[in-house]
Amino acid sequence: MDLSIIIPIYNEEANIQILYDRLSGVLAPLGRSYELIFVNDGSRDQSLRLIKALTERDTRVRYIDFSRNFGHQIAVTAGLDLSQGEAVVIIDADLQDPPELIPQLYHKLHEGYEVVYARRRSRQGESVAKKFTAKLFYRILANITNISIPVDTGDFRIISRKVVDALKQMPEQNKFIRGQISWIGYRQTYLEYDRAERAGGATGYTYSKMIRLALDGITGFSDAPLKFATISGFVVSGIAFVVVLYTLYERFVVHDYQPGWASLMVSILFLGGVQLIAVGIIGEYLSRLSANVRQRPLYIISDTNIPVTSVAPAAS
Ligand code: UDP
Ligand code: MG
Repeated sequence: MDLSIIIPIYNEEANIQILYDRLSGVLAPLGRSYELIFVNDGSRDQSLRLIKALTERDTRVRYIDFSRNFGHQIAVTAGLDLSQGEAVVIIDADLQDPPELIPQLYHKLHEGYEVVYARRRSRQGESVAKKFTAKLFYRILANITNISIPVDTGDFRIISRKVVDALKQMPEQNKFIRGQISWIGYRQTYLEYDRAERAGGATGYTYSKMIRLALDGITGFSDAPLKFATISGFVVSGIAFVVVLYTLYERFVVHDYQPGWASLMVSILFLGGVQLIAVGIIGEYLSRLSANVRQRPLYIISDTNIPVTSVAPAAS
């Protein structure tokens, strides 16, 4: 098998047929053997039925049906676990990532790279808020992590079997695949493209899912927030110490003091705030730590047409 295409699906009934047509249209001329792996991430619409209909017409179509919605990153992980291609493409189902770029990605990979990611030159049809928060997030992440995670890049990319095998050795529960791929190393490069609008349907990424992904990216690849909590603790303690000295001086030397309601409130609120932030940051790391200690499987497959013998063990 030369090429596996992994497509996470969450309520994409409006896009599956066009996606299949456009993928087949670009993959046939490539002249390589390929498989299309649709990972149904607990869709509540007709997506699964449409995918199953495709499997009857085309034996290259595989599907993995989850028992519920596990999230985009986990869906991609399941696809990677069960893929067989020498090269693997990760692509969104909504046609925001143009399938027409795949041949270029494929050829670039064979120029001697292990990863070719697709970088957004522009994005269409997305809200100003989404573009702004995405931009901000990628800049912050680039600044506080010690690996270089490319900015303005989603999961749309091609990776070699070597990288897939390396990913399978990373058992973390909170997946941030683009970060993991950067962490793995090897020779990586990129191609630029213009991100289109969603073909049909609505985004499955709610703000809470986006925040979770952002926090997974940050906590998974940086300890900067923990250090920030420590440093702010020291700074605030330092300031508090100076204020204590000043208060004692006023009280016992100058004998000029007011009943200190204002200063009391200010310092209590400020300290309370800083402490809560620090505790919250620790909590974010702790919750991920405990998720990893539990060692649950990452996902539960309800049904698939991929032979069970090739099913890799889920989380180790
Ligand atoms: N997706 C998924 N599970 C989810 C949310 C999304 O598998 O819980 C899939 C979705 O079907 C699509 C891809 O992940 O193929 C990207 O999602 P979406 O287009 O909604 O995200 P956006 O482009 O708005 O960031
Ligand atoms: Mg999308």
